[in-house]
Amino acid sequence: MALIMEYMNLPELEKVIDQVKVALVPVGSCEQHGPNSTYYTDSGRADAFAKALAERMGNKVLAFPPVTYGLSEHHMDFVGTVTLKPETLAKVYEDICVSISKHGINKILFIIGHGGNTVACEFAAITLKMKYGIQAFWAGFGSRTATGGLKPPGYAYGHADEFEVSSTLGLCPQYVKEEMVPGIMQDSLYTRGFWGYAPSWKYDVSLNGCLNDARKSSMEIGLDMKEEALNKLEKIVEDIIAYENKSKV
Ligand SMILES: [Zn+2]
Repeated sequence: MALIMEYMNLPELEKVIDQVKVALVPVGSCEQHGPNSTYYTDSGRADAFAKALAERMGNKVLAFPPVTYGLSEHHMDFVGTVTLKPETLAKVYEDICVSISKHGINKILFIIGHGGNTVACEFAAITLKMKYGIQAFWAGFGSRTATGGLKPPGYAYGHADEFEVSSTLGLCPQYVKEEMVPGIMQDSLYTRGFWGYAPSWKYDVSLNGCLNDARKSSMEIGLDMKEEALNKLEKIVEDIIAYENKSKV
C-alpha cells in the first residue's frame, strides 16, 4: 500500500511512520489557466504526481495533501486568482515542514505544480536549514524530452499551453476542458525575453491567460511526460535519502 495521507488513518500511519524517509508536499496554486483548464490545475497535477511517486516507492515515502494556494501575483489581473505574499507562503511551507519533522521525518520534498512557488520553497528551505536543521528540497515534474516534436517556443511555455495541458491530461484529465484555444500573446519586455521584473501575466504575456497552442496537447504525450518524470524523481528521492548534510547548523 502506498503511503498517502488522504487515504490513511492514525493506526495505519503509526505502524509505518518509522520507515518513512522522505515526506512529499505537493505545492499548487489557485490561479487561472485561461479557457483550457481549471483553477485547480496546478494543485491537482502536483497532488496526482506526488501520489504516483508514493505508489512507486513503498514505505520510504509519505505523500501529504497539497498546499492549494500559492504565489500567483502575476495572475492577479484575472478574476478568481488568489495569491499569498512570498513571505506568507514561505512561512506556510516552513510551518508544514516543522510539523512533519516533529514526527521524525527530517527530509521534505516539495513537489512543485506551479513554478511561481519556487521562490518561496527556496526561502523556506534556507530558513528550515538555518533555524531547525531540517533539510527541504524542491523539484518540478515537467519533462521536455518526452514531448518529442512538441517543444513549445523557447521564451515562454508551461502555462495552459500544449506542454502543461498534456501534463494535466496525463495526471488528472478531469481538470481539462474540451474546447482548447491558443494564447493571445502580448508583445512586452517579458515576451521579448527579459524576465527581470514582476510582469502582469494578462498585459505582458497573454490576454486570455494561456500560452502558445494547447490544441496540440494530448493524453499520450502527457502519459510519456509523467513516466519520464517519475523515473527521474524516483532516482532523485533515492539520492535525497542517501544525502548527508555535512554543514554545521
Ligand atoms: Zn499551471
